[in-house]
Amino acid sequence: MTVKITLGAINKEHGSSRKYKTGGWRTVCPVVDLEKCISCYRCYDYCPDAAIKKIENGIEYDLDYCKGCGICSKECPVKAIVMVKEEK
Ligand code: SF4
Ligand code: SF4
Repeated sequence: MTVKITLGAINKEHGSSRKYKTGGWRTVCPVVDLEKCISCYRCYDYCPDAAIKKIENGIEYDLDYCKGCGICSKECPVKAIVMVKEEK
């Protein structure tokens, strides 16, 4: 049996994700406590939107692209990241 999947959308601009600032979709925002951070960069490895930058002694967010999924917070081994309601 063949199952035909209907296309929902087509992106004709491959590699265009930098152009679209998806951070506007966010309803909750990650906040890191650098005092707790042990610079393991697990959050960096798991972020699906490449919205985390490595810095010396921790991380910083690129909020233009963070969608607020909370994966970084869930994966942080020392609970240094909390998700807070977005204020707009
Ligand atoms: S996962 Fe947590 S401890 Fe590791 S770099 Fe990210 S914020 Fe720091
Ligand atoms: S909340 Fe999600 S998208 Fe935003 S930095 Fe964390 S893992 Fe990346």
